[in-house]
Amino acid sequence: MLAYQHAYHAGNFADVHKHLTLFAVLQYLLRKSSAITYVDTHAGRGLYPLEAEETQRLREYRQGAAAVWAAREVLADDSLLAAWCERLGDAQSGASTLSHYPGSPWWLANDCREQDRLALFELHPGEATHLEAQVLPPQARRQHADGLAGIRALLPPATPRFCALIDPSYERKQEYTDVAATLQAVAAKVRHAIVMIWYPLLPSGRHHDLLTAARRSGLRKLWRSELTLHPPGEATHGMYGSGMLLLNPPWGIDTQLNASLTRVASCLGDTASHVSQWWVPE
Ligand code: SAM
Repeated sequence: MLAYQHAYHAGNFADVHKHLTLFAVLQYLLRKSSAITYVDTHAGRGLYPLEAEETQRLREYRQGAAAVWAAREVLADDSLLAAWCERLGDAQSGASTLSHYPGSPWWLANDCREQDRLALFELHPGEATHLEAQVLPPQARRQHADGLAGIRALLPPATPRFCALIDPSYERKQEYTDVAATLQAVAAKVRHAIVMIWYPLLPSGRHHDLLTAARRSGLRKLWRSELTLHPPGEATHGMYGSGMLLLNPPWGIDTQLNASLTRVASCLGDTASHVSQWWVPE
């Protein structure tokens, strides 16, 4: 049974990490006109009012999107962060107040051109109903279905380029290795696929199952980025960090994101930091 609802965590530091990475990749892809198939395997609701009861329960956005938003003038010398904050502003009802946090379908839909396709999968019935209610461009196809099976069914894509975000809730231990197997299956059918996988950093260290399986798969060009609120040893429970594993990141994105995410970390508190490395080089 699916219990996770992203509204409790909307706009937290992991969302900033994930959506800044997604935004950076999208800006790079938009430089060429050739069509792209985008897949969001775990889409969630699409847009989160921060005043919602669920979001107000934990207010995780305060050590996340709200902290970056509050520092946006200081961060404006970083062109990626400036553009990201400007785009975040487009989701707000008032010009300077952060009232909504947009989810991955919103970030993807915003950059979806007429020639592109966007497949959004969401398995939770309630979350899928929320997603249905979002106004999205006609290229966006929403499916109330399993995202890992759904992405495989879309291969090979009908477009020259392919870009996927895999962002599960990891409610089952098995999901870490399922995600690695999906990555391998996608790469086997689309050699040039850009795949972005989000994973949580928890004291249990389960993300190592994903990272180890990805390394053993024989895939090349895997880049790993981790944004942490505390050093691992200091966390006894709960998520202390957010990870992204990218297959075939566009050229230069690693350097750009490393600089921007280091600036993001500086907004999140004294113990926050960002590290990145080529997990498997080219
Ligand atoms: N990607 C979203 C974003 O960035 O705004 C957040 C996604 S949230 C972390 C994970 C979502 O996956 C939840 O809404 C959950 O209901 C959904 N989910 C869980 N298992 C799924 C599956 N097998 N296929 C598709 N969606 C699933």
